[in-house]
Amino acid sequence: MSHQGILVVVSGFSGAGKGTLMKELLKQYDNYALSVSATTRQPREGERDGEDYFFVSREHFQQMIEENKLVEYAQYVNHYYGTPKEYVDKKMSEGKDVILEIEIQGALKVKKRFPDALLLFVTPPSAEELRRRLVGRGTETIEVINARLRRAAEEAAGMEAYDYLLINDEIQPCVEQMHQLIQLQHSKTSYHLDFLSRMREDLYHLDDR
Ligand code: 5GP
Repeated sequence: MSHQGILVVVSGFSGAGKGTLMKELLKQYDNYALSVSATTRQPREGERDGEDYFFVSREHFQQMIEENKLVEYAQYVNHYYGTPKEYVDKKMSEGKDVILEIEIQGALKVKKRFPDALLLFVTPPSAEELRRRLVGRGTETIEVINARLRRAAEEAAGMEAYDYLLINDEIQPCVEQMHQLIQLQHSKTSYHLDFLSRMREDLYHLDDR
């Protein structure tokens, strides 16, 4: 059996509760590694550099692009966000399933580059609930909330590109469902090509004995 970890992309509207979902998933199961992205946006209160994001200048971000240090990157509401390659490669080769919590443009780039990646889309049960959560969070100005809601409307157009939809109504059932979907992905034949070819070979030679 292959011990290579798999790549999981989690997207969803800003305010869908992805952050809490990820925190719980990592707390409850130990085979996951959450990639820390680089971004040019300012830290929110309580966010820590190197933990929530690597907060970098535009010049630094540009340099990372030029040096080919990102798996993918995208622009989201006036800022750049990208996935550093080194951490992803390291954790996957250690056998960890690596989770990228990224927006849709980045998700589609990952799917193109790694067709075996699992793409999950998280949404609250309704549009009204999404707005309620974004306003309730109180971390953004009304202009930014409105920009994020407009972006949500654009992202909604691409939801079918994802493999599975997760409706985040209650957190715990959603965490369990996410874990099950990732585990299921491990059984895909494309993750076991070495095993399959060995099995074929052995079957072929059974007659020789
Ligand atoms: P926020 O500013 O709320 O932390 O993130 C804004 C959006 O950027 C979210 O949809 C988040 O998933 C996405 N995002 C975070 N990191 C990355 C990344 O490395 N690449 C891409 N493409 N999107 C990201």
